[in-house]
Amino acid sequence: MVIVLWRDPWLKPLSDGDLGTDACSLCKQEFQAMDYVTGCEFCTAGAMHARCADEHIMKKHKKQVEAKVNDHRDRRLHDYQ
Ligand SMILES: [Zn+2]
Ligand SMILES: [Zn+2]
Repeated sequence: MVIVLWRDPWLKPLSDGDLGTDACSLCKQEFQAMDYVTGCEFCTAGAMHARCADEHIMKKHKKQVEAKVNDHRDRRLHDYQ
């Protein structure tokens, strides 16, 4: 059984059995032991390598990421007022 690490720190290391898959939903390569794995927060693409998730998010969810960044920026501005 392969133990992979969730990139998100609040999630504990999981076995591939817990992921429901043993392969990355983006590059289709099997996870290796201690790979960093994460899910997409914007869709249900499933478990991906952390680097694949970055790629996926920048390709598929750029608008959503920008909206999120802008949202944070607005909030920070409000703090200074
Ligand atoms: Zn991958
Ligand atoms: Zn996605």
